[in-house]
Amino acid sequence: MTLDTAFTGYADPALHAEGLYIGGQWQAGRGIPVTDPSTGTTLAEVPDASIEDAMRAVDAAEAAAAGWRATPPRQRSEILRRWFTLMTERAEELALLISLENGKALADARGEVAYAAEFFRWYAEEATRIGGEFRHTPSGAHNILVDHEPIGIAVLITPWNFPAAMATRKIAPALAAGCTVILKPASETPLTAYAMARLGQEAGVPPGVVNVLTTSNPGPVTAAMLADPRVRKLSFTGSTGVGRILLAEAAKSVVNCSMELGGNAPFLVFDDADLSAALDGAMVAKMRNGGEACTAANRFYVQAGIHDAFVAGLTQRMSALKLGAGYDPETQCGPMITTKAVDKIDRLVSEAKARGARATTGGAPVDGSGYYYPPTVLENVPSDAALAHEEIFGPVAAIYRFETEEEAIRLANDTEYGLAAYVYSGDIMRAMRVGRGIETGMVGINRGLMSDPAAPFGGAKQSGLGREGGVIGILEFMEPKYFAVEF
Ligand code: NAP
Repeated sequence: MTLDTAFTGYADPALHAEGLYIGGQWQAGRGIPVTDPSTGTTLAEVPDASIEDAMRAVDAAEAAAAGWRATPPRQRSEILRRWFTLMTERAEELALLISLENGKALADARGEVAYAAEFFRWYAEEATRIGGEFRHTPSGAHNILVDHEPIGIAVLITPWNFPAAMATRKIAPALAAGCTVILKPASETPLTAYAMARLGQEAGVPPGVVNVLTTSNPGPVTAAMLADPRVRKLSFTGSTGVGRILLAEAAKSVVNCSMELGGNAPFLVFDDADLSAALDGAMVAKMRNGGEACTAANRFYVQAGIHDAFVAGLTQRMSALKLGAGYDPETQCGPMITTKAVDKIDRLVSEAKARGARATTGGAPVDGSGYYYPPTVLENVPSDAALAHEEIFGPVAAIYRFETEEEAIRLANDTEYGLAAYVYSGDIMRAMRVGRGIETGMVGINRGLMSDPAAPFGGAKQSGLGREGGVIGILEFMEPKYFAVEF
């Protein structure tokens, strides 16, 4: 498939939008080019919002806030459910669009659309089940009544690696809770966000409830929104570095923050693991999205007895993957998002090789146009190599050997991150014991994929604050209010 035919396949006028979306109006503009990472070709240009545009979005979110908060939960639920249905009906065009601007393989993009749409269905259901609490004081003399109110206007900032799912994981609970939002998607992948806003409009989301803007100046534009007392929530998904900056910015007005930040997931394989299941899980945990996932297995710790068979099996599977443009249906591993991403992977792999690591497949960037790095397996990696401590964010599996359970837990925890971990063992008691010993918000036990809209997603340590998804995800957009009631 060529870029031209792929582009025509998605360029449906009902989905295609390149304007700021503020107060239910589309405002055309240019300034931010969107690139196809398979070729480096410019696909489209989207507007570059100023601080004034952002303040108009806050005005629009404010104007819509009272009406949306007063909209019965059942009605909010039905709008979200329609949005789910529309996304599902348009899944193929959305998947193609994601592949075009992000580069990921179509199979991954299809998986993302299904996952992203599920947040609308899940929170359509949760919108009607917002609970409160009643209890007596321990003295028995008084009553405690707790209500949950919408927290207020929410600014949502999302990364490029899951352009649909990272947005719906925030929009769906926010709208279910009764909040209005301003979404700022990543500059590399804004077309998916705008396409989804079109579908939201079609689903009946009232003007101003969801606003979307792109900007090349995210720091000052976000700071201006956070300084406005009408904005009460920041929900951010992205790198830990930017998360730290935003936490400091939000502190100035004490804005409530949810932070989904970077990861450095360990993947532990014990001698008693089912080798074939561990390899299947490793391929998913490493290669979903070409390795550009916060939950991606970054460090494979493999026990000595199974180590060589695991290296051989993973090498065989990784070397068989077809590299190519994401929108080519044959492709299993697409390009990285930018040349900068390829350079970072190259730096990490080169440093590890210089210190004794050996590539059993891949191990160097691919020449030519597009931002490609091949699936790579590295063995004999020293545990203090840079790639053991930084997010690789690419198709590189770094394998380390360990001897004992205690050593595996210590190595797994030797990081500032605490998002996800994976444990493969035939002994469920051991797997659970190890899982409890690892300092992360999520642990996959004999599973390589943990993302599920019905589960609380999020990290410990410097991987984040709060949770998205699950029953508790809606509470990130609600303020508890306690009534001391005499009756
Ligand atoms: P990023 O560089 O931190 O950017 C994320 C978003 O923040 C983008 O929309 C970006 O806008 C914006 N941004 C950048 N600087 C900003 C500033 N000073 N003020 C306000 N906004 C700012 O992250 P990324 O490279 O897009 O995404 C990869 C990272 O996200 C990885 O670390 C990955 O682990 C993490 N991630 C975490 C999760 C999770 O659930 N924990 C999920 C997915 C990804 P521009 O695009 O315009 O720069």
